[in-house]
Order: sequence, then structure tokens, then C-alpha cells
Amino acid sequence: MKYILLNLKIEKSFEEKIYMSIKKNHSLKELNTFGIDVKANYLAEIFSVNELKDVLKDSEFNNLPKLILGGGSNILFTKDFEGLILKISIPGINILDENKENVIVESGAGVVWNDLVNYCVEKKFGGIENLVLIPGTVGAAPIQNIGAYGQELKDTFLELSGVFLDSVDEKSFTNSECKFSYRNSIFKNELKDKFIVTSIKLRLKKNPEINSSYKDILDELRKSNISNPSIKDISNIVASIRRRKLPDPVEFGNAGSFFKNPVISLTQFEELNKKYPGLKSFPVDDRYVKISAAWLIEKCGWKGKQSGNVGTYHNQPLVLINYGNATGSEVFEFAMEIKESVQTKFGVTLQNEVNII
Ligand SMILES: Cc1cc2nc3c(=O)[nH]c(=O)nc-3n(C[C@H](O)[C@H](O)[C@H](O)COP(=O)(O)OP(=O)(O)OC[C@H]3O[C@@H](n4cnc5c(N)ncnc54)[C@H](O)[C@@H]3O)c2cc1C
Repeated sequence: MKYILLNLKIEKSFEEKIYMSIKKNHSLKELNTFGIDVKANYLAEIFSVNELKDVLKDSEFNNLPKLILGGGSNILFTKDFEGLILKISIPGINILDENKENVIVESGAGVVWNDLVNYCVEKKFGGIENLVLIPGTVGAAPIQNIGAYGQELKDTFLELSGVFLDSVDEKSFTNSECKFSYRNSIFKNELKDKFIVTSIKLRLKKNPEINSSYKDILDELRKSNISNPSIKDISNIVASIRRRKLPDPVEFGNAGSFFKNPVISLTQFEELNKKYPGLKSFPVDDRYVKISAAWLIEKCGWKGKQSGNVGTYHNQPLVLINYGNATGSEVFEFAMEIKESVQTKFGVTLQNEVNII
């Protein structure tokens, strides 16, 4: 790629001067899976913790707004970004420690999440096989505690390291310090846009328990006559279900589920379920129930609907699609119409899963 438009002079501690490439007025169309064509004033691709610290300390960028970017698969750009985008591409997967039962794997934040899953599945390290084919980078995985098909990142997560944007201090966070919950963590709340993940550590199992509790997985296992599945079987099955159900962002710009599944009180659930039998739900605990956002959206008549360049995916109405050259605002407005109709019909407020910029 040829894009060196501005050379940033960086003083290294050993007084050697290096030049890092920073792109200026750069299009972000290829850097977000919605395929929204906006620009950033500056874009720095970061390959190491030292590079990251150097850029954060550079006076040229001190006062600019900053945005941390991984694979751009959970972001909707509604306008140009007037500031510096830090695209985290820190590489490397290493085994740090292992015994008979467990193995500790460390991964750089810029590693493609699915590459880490495949690496672990090939080595028979269990715990993230159900998370196969989730787009994006390892560094973004803790931000919303990614999850799918009965597994969440927090189940195997040990700790992460990173750097504060303002102070440029390094810090590690343990599992409990990350305050993980459903599609949520401290990095979406108190530390939103304040901390950059540079690496994570997972504790994986050498004799893993297979998680095949999801109906779709069980159906596939039955169909394929697999009674004692390996983690490789599970990752293959989940991958084929995902390919069948979800649109490929290369074909249709999208960012996966646009909204979270709402978590409501048991009382509200019982009232809704009486009025709308068949409401799809998953138990959370004895007081709360998670209900299917896709079900609510479908019942409001949005499945497969298209308006201009934007629509819902015909197989999964929770996924919004850029059918052409949609702007981020068009996608956002379409999403807000959906939200309003679900609120009106069911009295349930949908929350965005996608980060709106
Ligand atoms: C087709 C499709 C299917 C999907 N399926 C799922 C699914 O099953 N389950 C699921 O949980 N998600 C799913 N997603 C959403 C998305 O893949 C995940 O949220 C993923 O973790 C985003 O990674 P990313 O690198 O693309 O993050 P980005 O979109 O680049 O960033 C997302 C957020 O994280 C922040 N961020 C990114 N990197 C860092 C970092 N290193 N340090 C600090 N903050 C950072 C960004 O500032 C932003 O706020 C899907 C998306 C698509 C397009």
C-alpha cells in the first residue's frame, strides 16, 4: 500500500530517530465493515506498544480527538473523523505457560480474532471455538465481551494490557477489573475511549468441555451423526451456521447485530409473553430475562425491508445492511425508525450494540 503522506519524526529513547507513516485525509471506506465512505484527518497504523506511546506523546497530535480502531466491524461512521485514528495492528500469538490441564495464550491486540480462534482450535486448546468467525481484532474483543453460540470472551479471559490515552501510562486489567457483562465492560463505560488494549491473555483448556447447548449446534451434530464432538467439530459447525445465517460484509456492508438483546424484568416478560405468545427469550437469572431483539424487530414488520440504500438482512432482521452507497446517517436514521417502532409496539427500548461515531 502506498500512503505515506506525512512523516512523523519520533524521538526514540535511545535517541535514534525513526519515521512512522501517518496517512492524512484518508478514506475509511475499507476500514469499516459497513463500507461507509468517510475520511479521517490522520490515520496512524500502530504495530507495537512503543510506537503507540510515541504517537500519543507527540505534540503534533496532543490536542486532537482520537479514535481507537480495530477491524471496524462494530462501528458506524456518521461523519468524517476530525482527529487522529489509531489503527491497532500489534501482532503476535504466544504460549506463555502450560500444564496438563491449562494453557495461557497471549495475543497482540492487532491479531485478527478468527486467526486466534483457528490457532487455538488447531492446537486443541478449548474455550473459544464457539466464537469462530466473529469479525474484528483481538484488542476489540474485551470491549464488548464478544459472545456467540453459548460462549463469551469472559469465560476464558485472564487479563489484558494496554495504555491510557491521556497519561500514556501502561496498566493491566484482570478479568474482574474488566467488569464484563453481556456485550459490556468497563471499556464501554468508565474507560470509554480512554484506554487502548495492546494485548490479552486467555486461559484455555487442554481437555475442554464441549459447549453444544445451542439448538442450532445440536441439530447440526444430529444431522452429521456426531455423538462425541471435538472442538474442531464445534468450530466447523458454528462456522457453517454463521456462513448460512449472516451476511458477509464483503458482499453486503454490515456490522453484525445492530442492537443488543434487551434484558427485561421477569414481570415485564410475563406481561409481554401473555400478549405475544412465542416471544423468544433466554433466562438470565431469577429476576431478569433476555429477549430476542430480532424477534421484536421481525414482529414490527422490518424483516427484509429496504429503504433506499439501507435495509435489514432477509435472514436476520437484527443485521442492518448497506445495500449500496449508504451514508452513515442513512443507516443511523433507519436504525432509529426500527427502535421507535419496537418501543411503540412492545414498550421495550432497544440499545445499540454498534458504536456510533
Ligand atoms: C458479520 C458480523 C458478525 C458479528 N458477529 C458478532 C458476534 O457473534 N458476537 C459479537 O460479540 N460481535 C459480533 N460482531 C461485532 C464485532 O465483530 C465485534 O464487536 C468485534 O469485537 C469488533 O472488533 P473490531 O476490531 O472490528 O472493532 P472496531 O469495530 O474497530 O471497534 C469496536 C469498538 O472497540 C474499540 N476498540 C477497538 N480496538 C480497540 C483496542 N485495541 N483498545 C481499545 N478499544 C478498542 C473501538 O474504539 C470501538 O469503540 C459481528 C460483526 C459483523 C460484521
